[in-house]
Amino acid sequence: MRIVVLPGDGIGPEISAAAVEVLGLVNRDLGLGLEFETHEIGLVRLKTGGTTFPAAVLERCRAADGLLLGPVSHSDYPGRAEGGINVSAELRIALDLYVNIRPSRSRDGLAHYGRTPMDLVIVRENTEGFYADRNMHLGSGEFMPTPDLALSVRKITAAGSRRIAAAAFELAGSRRRKVTAVHKRNVLKVSEGLFLREVRKLAREHPDVAYEEQLIDSTAALLVRDARRFDVIVTTNMFGDILSDEAAELSGSLGLAGSINAGDAHCMAQAQHGSAPDIAGRDLANPVSLVLSAAMLLDWMGRRRDDRRFARAADTIDRSVDALLKDPATRTADLGGKLGTKAFTAAALGGVAGMVEALEDTKPANTTEAVEALFEVLARHVGRVKSKKGSKLRGRPGRSRQPKNPACSGEPPDSPDEAK
Ligand code: NAD
Repeated sequence: MRIVVLPGDGIGPEISAAAVEVLGLVNRDLGLGLEFETHEIGLVRLKTGGTTFPAAVLERCRAADGLLLGPVSHSDYPGRAEGGINVSAELRIALDLYVNIRPSRSRDGLAHYGRTPMDLVIVRENTEGFYADRNMHLGSGEFMPTPDLALSVRKITAAGSRRIAAAAFELAGSRRRKVTAVHKRNVLKVSEGLFLREVRKLAREHPDVAYEEQLIDSTAALLVRDARRFDVIVTTNMFGDILSDEAAELSGSLGLAGSINAGDAHCMAQAQHGSAPDIAGRDLANPVSLVLSAAMLLDWMGRRRDDRRFARAADTIDRSVDALLKDPATRTADLGGKLGTKAFTAAALGGVAGMVEALEDTKPANTTEAVEALFEVLARHVGRVKSKKGSKLRGRPGRSRQPKNPACSGEPPDSPDEAK
């Protein structure tokens, strides 16, 4: 299986190297059969090849089994006509990576900045919304009829809303069974109304999942005040982008936030944060976000192939990172620690290797026992896997399963005002 690695700009090469080292280790020790293929993209490629994203590299991505993209400095790219292609947006559209799964959770022993601990996943629509570079068939969704008047077009479709809602309810089924649709229908009555119409249909199809609606502005406050109330948040592109940075920082640091972009055929691991040019090349970046994104990619690959070794690898990475973050001596600067990117990566490699060895030591005698042992490990440490054959869009599900929210009537309200 081939994973295409695109290191990106700014801190991208540093944190991509860390993620690839960790993937390489689990690949070797757990026999996953991965091969890595790296292509230069971004500002470096613009200088040497006249474009940030050559068409040939896109084709390699299309043919790959998984992608790992480092952050890109697209604010610094020239216009598309001058070769400045936003690699992230281009891949999301070209490979129809319509769901961006962005978990944020606080961790034992590590300070969080919200008033309560949190364990939530933001399911963000990825291919339309207020993103001018991806919401038109031809041309841009932003234009200037006169030098003093600028307009932006926002695209919301029933099909786009329906499929993101389906992904959210599916994910919620393996977590605490609650979906919050975040919107701004009080102002954007037509487009947000369409989004909510489709999400409500899915809510009716999932009476076992509690459903509520919340305005985007109050959600921003509630994340600080009481993030425990959220399990799965489903929302449109820009709201999801902004809220997920807020949630990640509240959980401890933007540098902790893993994410995948997934569609029916492809999946791309990508950190939630940007290219952090202020700390690039200084061994200061926290690689956790991309390392956990890589773990999410493994999880996605394993579910598609029904191969539990991948879930095992992803779980091992997750737990190793948690163990490092618990100890102030093994934290990076964004968390008040002293470790640089390279030293943290070395510690992560040691942690993952140790956990794989511990699993090997208790290796069961036969296959049935092996499978049972694996589920035991998963249940003990995460309690979050509800395997569902044929499921396409599973990201890293949540930590705990709780009974259905008693507040759920099974029938979502018809208007947001009636919703809690
Ligand atoms: P940013 O996310 O790069 O940085 C925000 C702040 O968080 C900075 O202080 C940075 O040092 C810090 N930070 C981010 N990641 C960190 C990490 N792993 N470890 C430690 N600290 C970290 O946001 P920005 O500065 O607004 O954007 C910089 C560039 O990134 C811009 O060109 C922007 O367009 C681009 N961007 C790319 C993506 C992407 O590739 N997915 C996403 C957002 C922004």
